Amino acid sequence: MRNEYDVVIAGGGLNGPALGLALADAGLRVAVVDAAPERARADDSFDGRAYALALASVRLLGGIGVCDGLAETAQPIRKVIARQGRGTEIGPFGLYFDANEIEEGVLGQMLEDRFLYRALLGAMRDRLTHIPETQVVGEAADAGGIDVSLSDGRILRARLLVGADGRRSGVAKRAGIRRSGHDYGQTALVAALDQEIPHDGAAHQIFLPTGPLAVLPLKGDRSSIVWSLKRDRAQVIGGLGDEDFLSVLGQQIEAITGKVTLAGPRFSYPLNLTLANSYIAERVALIGDAAHGVHPIAGQGLNLGLRDVGALAECVVEAARNGEDIGFATTLDRYQGWRRFDSTSLALGMDGVNGLFSNDNPVLRGMRGLGMGAVNAVPALRRRFMRTAAGLNIDPMPRLLAGKAL
Ligand SMILES: Cc1cc2nc3c(=O)[nH]c(=O)nc-3n(C[C@H](O)[C@H](O)[C@H](O)COP(=O)(O)OP(=O)(O)OC[C@H]3O[C@@H](n4cnc5c(N)ncnc54)[C@H](O)[C@@H]3O)c2cc1C
Repeated sequence: MRNEYDVVIAGGGLNGPALGLALADAGLRVAVVDAAPERARADDSFDGRAYALALASVRLLGGIGVCDGLAETAQPIRKVIARQGRGTEIGPFGLYFDANEIEEGVLGQMLEDRFLYRALLGAMRDRLTHIPETQVVGEAADAGGIDVSLSDGRILRARLLVGADGRRSGVAKRAGIRRSGHDYGQTALVAALDQEIPHDGAAHQIFLPTGPLAVLPLKGDRSSIVWSLKRDRAQVIGGLGDEDFLSVLGQQIEAITGKVTLAGPRFSYPLNLTLANSYIAERVALIGDAAHGVHPIAGQGLNLGLRDVGALAECVVEAARNGEDIGFATTLDRYQGWRRFDSTSLALGMDGVNGLFSNDNPVLRGMRGLGMGAVNAVPALRRRFMRTAAGLNIDPMPRLLAGKAL
């Protein structure tokens, strides 16, 4: 059986559905194929992950019509506080961003994976063809289109195949796209916590000698922690029973959170950097983690992916409106030119920040303290960093991220 689409997207995680919805809204026929069963990710126990979404990313979600249902579960980020070591003192060598200093009044929103995924899933049901529990296993491009083979034997014919199939992208591999990167030798321990002291919308980044620990505000008196540790140490701490784990974690954060208890299961993610050496091939484009898997230190992975979504949607829709073949190299070159430099420089920036902040070398400790203190002391510089964190300095800014229609 052969079905005709304009775009087939391999991968129904977060970036794949977001792109699919943007394109479907513009009148394109879209299929999103996902290896995972529909219910798995919508389940409360699937993944403890929560995302610090920049304001620009939130605008894109609004533009594809998935924000309304999320408002109740989203926590506005009103402050970002970075400091070295535990305690409540920010001191002269820390950073304090207050969203009141920028006119938007908020830096972004914290969203839990399960709620975001459910919102995307619901929207996909109404607006495009969603094929769960099925893998994309092959593709063959020709002058007129691309045949996409599925694990159930179906072949979908499209003009363009988008690889949104994550860090181990099979689409990229089969297209001969190589990857660069390295293993960080770190594991992130992730958990949701109930806390005694209200967080007041503050996101904390605590630079400990063992590695960075983020305490991110969720709706209610609840936080999500992402604690990046050297792998052997992560194994020891991650292997502790809940009570002992909370006791070790509590020593690091209770000055700001008060007493904490677990609000759900704990998770761990091995961390690596993986960058595709090209974002495009014949009738193929990569987005999200398939194009760039980065360190979670600044919570930028999904934000970067949504920038890809905004840029690729704009390139494809413009080509379609001009009567061009949306899978042609001109459209794909424009997308790659727009996104690759931005993602690579940010990924390498995060790489450097992680290297600088994940050790206890006294010289580096002094340097990073001076760096943070200098930014904090100059209001104009501080505002500039805040606008960058909110995703408001992207140039050129994709329309969906600027809150405009495609
Ligand atoms: C601990 C941690 C904390 C993070 N915190 C943040 C944060 O605060 N802010 C932020 O912006 N980002 C954050 N990130 C990054 C973010 O989680 C990722 O960037 C994002 O989830 C990537 O989404 P994706 O849709 O590109 O890929 P994925 O979510 O990996 O989805 C890929 C999908 O492809 C499917 N698939 C794979 N192979 C096939 C195939 N052959 N056929 C069909 N489907 C296939 C899979 O089933 C999966 O559903 C964090 C990451 C980690 C590990």
